[in-house]
Amino acid sequence: MRDKELYGKILGIEEPWLVVDVDLRLEDGEVLVFLEHRACSKLLCPECEEPAKGYDTRSKRWRHLDTCQYRTVLVAEVPRVECPAHGVRQIRVPWSEAGSRFTALFEALVIDWLQESSIAAVARLLGLSWSAADGIMQRAVVRGLARREPQLPTHVGVDETSFQKRHEYVTVLSDQDEDTVVHVADGRGREALDVFWETFSEEKRAGVESVAMDMWPAYIASTKAAIPDAERKIAFDKFHVAAHLGQAVDRVRRGEHRALWAKGEDTLKGTKYLWLQNPGAMSDERWADLKALRDTALKTARAWAIKEFAMSLWQYRTRGWARKAWLRWYSWAIRSQLEPIRRVARMVKRHLEGILNAIVLGVTNARSEAINAKIQWLKYTARGFRNRDRFRSAIYFHLGGLSLYPDSLATHTNQ
Ligand SMILES: [Zn+2]
Repeated sequence: MRDKELYGKILGIEEPWLVVDVDLRLEDGEVLVFLEHRACSKLLCPECEEPAKGYDTRSKRWRHLDTCQYRTVLVAEVPRVECPAHGVRQIRVPWSEAGSRFTALFEALVIDWLQESSIAAVARLLGLSWSAADGIMQRAVVRGLARREPQLPTHVGVDETSFQKRHEYVTVLSDQDEDTVVHVADGRGREALDVFWETFSEEKRAGVESVAMDMWPAYIASTKAAIPDAERKIAFDKFHVAAHLGQAVDRVRRGEHRALWAKGEDTLKGTKYLWLQNPGAMSDERWADLKALRDTALKTARAWAIKEFAMSLWQYRTRGWARKAWLRWYSWAIRSQLEPIRRVARMVKRHLEGILNAIVLGVTNARSEAINAKIQWLKYTARGFRNRDRFRSAIYFHLGGLSLYPDSLATHTNQ
């Protein structure tokens, strides 16, 4: 029958396997492809790959890529061998990983889709259970991590991120040149970072050129202890400083809004995001709204101007000029009489050398921001994570730059 040959070709079935039957079940929307192992060919133990005596066979099924919208299932009697060293084992099949109910190509398809969408959506679209789709994802991460050596980037990014419950954190270590996450550590204390640094020799650690982070004592202390010459390498980047100033502007706005509201004025009502958005990314209409407010005597407008001025200070290139400009900014901020702004100004002054490091080392906010945005997307699409392990695994899956496909296909990908 011609379709046996055709299916053999489509599925890439090779000796000693062959397609012996194809059963098209129109009413079930399903194609069953029956495979058989040639009796005369020798059998190998999956552990040691030594020839071994046949023991019995087991009936197995694997979901494969659909053919013309028909769910396609491979069916085979898979021989088991009795190896003197490893006992009774099922032989390896070339189209699937051991223990999987899916072919390698099907797993690769699921992996591709999971990169774009939530587990629930992919499960629904492909007619899988949630746990089957999740299992493919978890196995992919385990595979990807096993294939990779621990990596210490030249330009490291350190960031904390919370999941589900507000006070549970992980520390995310990233490669700022590759936009990938190299490690996810528990918590956000000093040990979180210590454990990562200690993975590498002192010589390797000396090769680190910059460590971008928030002004966070635990990370600073850990990095100073582990990285030679850390005083010149720790960089408090624009992304993190902007976040602190953004929060300060928002605190000023909330306080002022309350005070105005008590007097019956609603000038600041509904303006929260107007003040927080990057003016460069604003529509003309929003810019017009902001401009009208900005030119008023509002405290919030003043706080906003102080923040935006700080954002412009990243354009300096030399330490000396940048220091002068930041100190000028500091004296303006500290005289502002806006307590949230003054608090950040003091923090900035205490950490000024690290901010200047970010400037002279050319550490930009783009990397931290991109990784952070993707992690927020993960939290949103997963509607929260049940525990830290699931969160960690999702970060590795989407941001680890790992080779995720099953072994037989792994050479085809290096995302
Ligand atoms: Zn063996």
